[in-house]
Amino acid sequence: MFQSSEIYGGMNGFWDYGPLGVELKRNVKNAWWQDMCAGHNELIQLEGAPSTFEMVGLDCTILMHPQVWKCSGHYDLFHDFMVDCRESKKRYRFDQVRGRWVSAKSQRIFVTTMVEADTEVEETQRKAQKFFNLRAKDVDQLVWESGFVSLDKLTPEEHAVTLAPDANTLGTFTAPREFNLMFKTYVGALSGEEGAAFLRPETAQGIFVNFKNVLDSTRVKIPFGVAQIGKSFRNEITPRNFTFRSREFEQMEIEFFCNPTESPGWYTYWRNRRMQWYRDLGLSDKRLRLREHHADELSHYSCGTADIEYAFPFLAEGEYGELEGIAHRGDFDLRSHMEGKLDPKKRPLELERTEDGQPKHRGSGRDLTYRDDLTNERYTPHVIEPSAGADRAMLAFLCEAYTEDEAPDEDGKMQTRVVMRLHPRIAPIKAAVFPLVKKDGMPELAQKIYGDLKKHMNVFYDEKGAVGRRYRRQDEAGTPYCITVDGQSLVDGTVTVRDRDTLVQTRISVSELTQEIKTRIGS
Ligand code: ATP
Repeated sequence: MFQSSEIYGGMNGFWDYGPLGVELKRNVKNAWWQDMCAGHNELIQLEGAPSTFEMVGLDCTILMHPQVWKCSGHYDLFHDFMVDCRESKKRYRFDQVRGRWVSAKSQRIFVTTMVEADTEVEETQRKAQKFFNLRAKDVDQLVWESGFVSLDKLTPEEHAVTLAPDANTLGTFTAPREFNLMFKTYVGALSGEEGAAFLRPETAQGIFVNFKNVLDSTRVKIPFGVAQIGKSFRNEITPRNFTFRSREFEQMEIEFFCNPTESPGWYTYWRNRRMQWYRDLGLSDKRLRLREHHADELSHYSCGTADIEYAFPFLAEGEYGELEGIAHRGDFDLRSHMEGKLDPKKRPLELERTEDGQPKHRGSGRDLTYRDDLTNERYTPHVIEPSAGADRAMLAFLCEAYTEDEAPDEDGKMQTRVVMRLHPRIAPIKAAVFPLVKKDGMPELAQKIYGDLKKHMNVFYDEKGAVGRRYRRQDEAGTPYCITVDGQSLVDGTVTVRDRDTLVQTRISVSELTQEIKTRIGS
């Protein structure tokens, strides 16, 4: 992965995927699409599912009618709090500035930093030492109070004795202000507000506004799910932790429509199923957890939400980052797009109105209810939404896969190697083909094998350098199998297949090779 526009100094919060990265991310998306949508067998009842169900796909536009965002709530509610530093002129997300209390020379101050969790102790120490003008030998005059807390937990009086991350004087933070995360643009030649539109901050709304189109153009019946993968944009105040929080990213979302009476069962089903998906692709239970939101944490539309979280190595010990949210959204979205923006604070939900009693944002006026053919019952479906980030999932798979171990080189001596233990389904390169030496007809046979395999999967050909070094290069790229053509291959038509993880080499006949590799990678 490279920083976007790197030769011009880069753009904060934007990332490009290089030749291996693009394959890995595409494999993550393809695995999701295959497992959740295209490969879904609607005739069997999956374990834990209340009944059988159908899945279909959609691909919606990034720019949508501005009214979509008014009725979804994003126009009024999709904001974070930010603070500015009057001294450094830098802007920070209120809840992301972390710091700790320290006293020296009869003064108690709160020292903050935005550096990564593993360096924040040293960074706050360095800042406090500078602030109190202490020499290195006098640092033990600093009396620290335990633990880091985020700035939004402090009182306004405490803000006055806070040292901002890039400031030298105290109390330079402004009061927190709301900041809408949607990117605004203008459509067509109109540059005024009539042409204003927003880049979607989530793919979900495209599915809701097409609910009726899907019902009318297919024969799906409730319960069913609609899947979509696509770019989303959020003008994050402080993008960080590599691709974990960026301003342009990809989501993999499902809106699952069901009868309200069955929605609690489906919520549980999707929570468990999505958790298992990450396990099946290699994330270990040691770093993965499912966290149910507390009632006061729930989004404005939600009757229940659980996050699938991963203990990314760049987070502080014991902290987790969200990979996916599974939300029970009730009928909030369909009803808002039908009737007008609903008031999320009211139970039961009713139209949100301005002070003079007018509807705050009008809905489409279209009928987005569902009629059950068998029972003749008409209702607004409930929705379960498993919403995942492709970039975050990929980052978690990368972190989990990174290993250093020992493997023998060509002389049998043990050497340290970096190996990416990626699940074969998502590995960027499935197999590499090597001629042991560049002579005696070995390259010709290796190239033929390479050409045959290339029709089925992404394979790599390498004839340069010692074979041990070629193996290690593939270990670093996460390639699960290395195929070597040697002297024996020319005699009996077999090659060796080396397994990246076990290092076991087996001889396989060239005629069975494609099928064997396909079976091993599970395609
Ligand atoms: P966070 O609390 O981390 O900002 P969120 O709760 O706002 O995330 P959702 O709105 O639930 O995120 O979005 C669903 C998924 O989209 C997230 O679980 C994550 O995988 C992905 N996602 C959201 N924001 C970003 C981002 N800025 N960069 C990369 N992925 C993101």
